[in-house]
Amino acid sequence: MVSLTNMDIQYLKGIGPKSAELFRRIGAPTVGALLRIYPRMYEDWSKQIKIREACGELSKCIKVKILYPVRLILSKGSMKMYKSVATDGENNIDIIFFNNKYVIGGFLPGEEVLIFGNVTINSGRYEITNPKIKGINENLKLRPIYGQTKGLQSWKIESAVKNALELLPSKFPDMYSNDFLNNYDLCSLDFAIRNIHFPSGENELKEARKRLIFDELYLWQLSVNMLKGMSRQSTYIKIEKDYTKDFYFLLPFEPTNAQKTAIMECNEDMKSGKFSMSRLLQGDVGSGKTVVAAAIAYNAVKNGYQVAIMAPTEILATQHYETFNKLFLGLGINIELLTGSIRAKARREAMGRIKTGEASVIVGTHVLFSECTQFYNLGLVITDEQHRFGVNQRTNLAQKGNNPHVLVMSATPIPRTLALIIYGDLDISVLNELPPGRQKIDTFCVERDKRKRVYNFTKKLLDEGRQAYVVCPSIEENETDMVAVESYAKELSSGEFSEYNVGILHGKMKAKEKEEVMKNFLEGKLQLLISTTVIEVGVDVPNAAVMIIENAERFGLSQLHQLRGRVGRGKEKSYCIMISDNKGEDSQKRFKAMINSNDGFYLANEDLKFRGPGEFFGSKQHGIPNVKMSNMLKDMEIVKLSQIAVKETIEKSPDLSGDEFKIVKKQIQKLLETKIGKQIYITV
Ligand code: ADP
Ligand code: MG
Repeated sequence: MVSLTNMDIQYLKGIGPKSAELFRRIGAPTVGALLRIYPRMYEDWSKQIKIREACGELSKCIKVKILYPVRLILSKGSMKMYKSVATDGENNIDIIFFNNKYVIGGFLPGEEVLIFGNVTINSGRYEITNPKIKGINENLKLRPIYGQTKGLQSWKIESAVKNALELLPSKFPDMYSNDFLNNYDLCSLDFAIRNIHFPSGENELKEARKRLIFDELYLWQLSVNMLKGMSRQSTYIKIEKDYTKDFYFLLPFEPTNAQKTAIMECNEDMKSGKFSMSRLLQGDVGSGKTVVAAAIAYNAVKNGYQVAIMAPTEILATQHYETFNKLFLGLGINIELLTGSIRAKARREAMGRIKTGEASVIVGTHVLFSECTQFYNLGLVITDEQHRFGVNQRTNLAQKGNNPHVLVMSATPIPRTLALIIYGDLDISVLNELPPGRQKIDTFCVERDKRKRVYNFTKKLLDEGRQAYVVCPSIEENETDMVAVESYAKELSSGEFSEYNVGILHGKMKAKEKEEVMKNFLEGKLQLLISTTVIEVGVDVPNAAVMIIENAERFGLSQLHQLRGRVGRGKEKSYCIMISDNKGEDSQKRFKAMINSNDGFYLANEDLKFRGPGEFFGSKQHGIPNVKMSNMLKDMEIVKLSQIAVKETIEKSPDLSGDEFKIVKKQIQKLLETKIGKQIYITV
């Protein structure tokens, strides 16, 4: 017999082939998966308030008595408007319906009903439009509202879930023992699943959320811990002699104290000769992570090892390649660039040099870790802008070398508690200091019709010898009025900026073309670069002083900060100008945060609050498992509880072989398998 969890959604009552397809699309191909699609919010029908109180609030439930029956009051073309009037004993309210002839005769004067919706004031009268309506005798509680997708309304999901829950055995099996549940004060999975969908009250909902969030965090931390066991392996790769002082002589500037500390921490790891380094380097944009990478790469190379440096984009890989070439000029260190767009023959030759050990520093994109790259003696792997890759692929690498040391670098600063959960298997170094002489980047938000002023301001800076970026969200014109790179570039280069050298850059260009444009911009031959977000991460052109972001509402806070980080990388005063007509509350919040702060750590925290970690990290890329519910900042209590449980579990049964953890172990294995198997990018 197929278990309920694996039962195809199509066999559920009321679901035909067509809606089954829709359910598959929202990630519910099976009944089990459906039950894990949690409501986005709840309509509280259990508490009724007065019309006056409901006004201006989000959707609320009001109990009213009908005064006048529904009648047609306006008919204009295909638009028909119906109205009824009701009272709560204090005030009257107009109930308006559009294009719904079925409401006629729906209720009668004197009848009492519950209505649910947004109350507004129109010409001095209270009004509610297209409310949901229920009889007062229905036993109503918290009603689930699911994220809607085209063709699959919330009520359809609700009814499918209801049917699925009816099929559930009276006691849905749990992965924890009763002792475990008691110990951490958790409700059963059965209770949690039923109450997350149809809470019998607010407390029950709270219990259900607690349990499900706990599960997510507990399983995630245990899997990370398991990976730790896999990645933290003993190694023979040992840095015998420290060449860091020599490296400092090569630098055109004095490293910051934060850089020195981070370099020292890495070196300590690599000197131990016991376990391979597994370290995360966090630093805000422009804090100088590349120097740390270069320092420890130098050390590894001087000690006879190969170093691989992986970047998420070809543009960034190429830039690192050039930086390292400049830095190590004349030292006899061979640097190799390996990206997807390098032709087959050249690539084969490069692979040859990597295999024989002729190449000692290998910079590239994820191609670096394709099956056919063989290293001579890989001692250190550095992944730049690690938030762009998944966090789970720690296995492939181990096969490449003899457990090389690993440093991952990220410009997405996250709070320590969260970092411990997400990167729990890594030690952490932080660059909490910017190189000296940096000035605050002045940030503004302007409406589109003020662009002319922005252009004039930009021209003035270009005339002073600075350079500027314009970033647009997409490269093709589409139905909305989003600014598209190609047409916009044409417009600007033949119009406003016809006197200037304008370049264009987007993901669909050939790698060679992209390289050429970047090079010209870096060398100052181009003054204005109009680009998509391909320049978002890592690009370093210190002379660029203006960043103009079109359709700024399209970008998340961390992304805006990353983009802004492309300027203000030198000594010049820099500016970031966000262009947007969007007055939405969320975008305004982001703009305000950007204008008020230049601090990546602070902004990342804000972003987490706005969006929750799942969205923040892009669960897909990161394989953060089902962090659908928890907002780790708001659910700090549960985070702490889960940390305690993880610690005690590991103490009890380090490899989870205990009988008590049999199902837990299975779940984790499943989690690791799917995450590792499916990811495109290979990372550490
Ligand atoms: P990110 O942390 O964003 O990767 P980069 O490593 O690209 O930052 O460094 C940003 C810029 O700062 C580069 O132009 C780099 O040369 C410069 N830089 C890095 N460290 C220092 C330092 N200690 N003093 C002065 N400039 C520095
Ligand atoms: Mg960088």
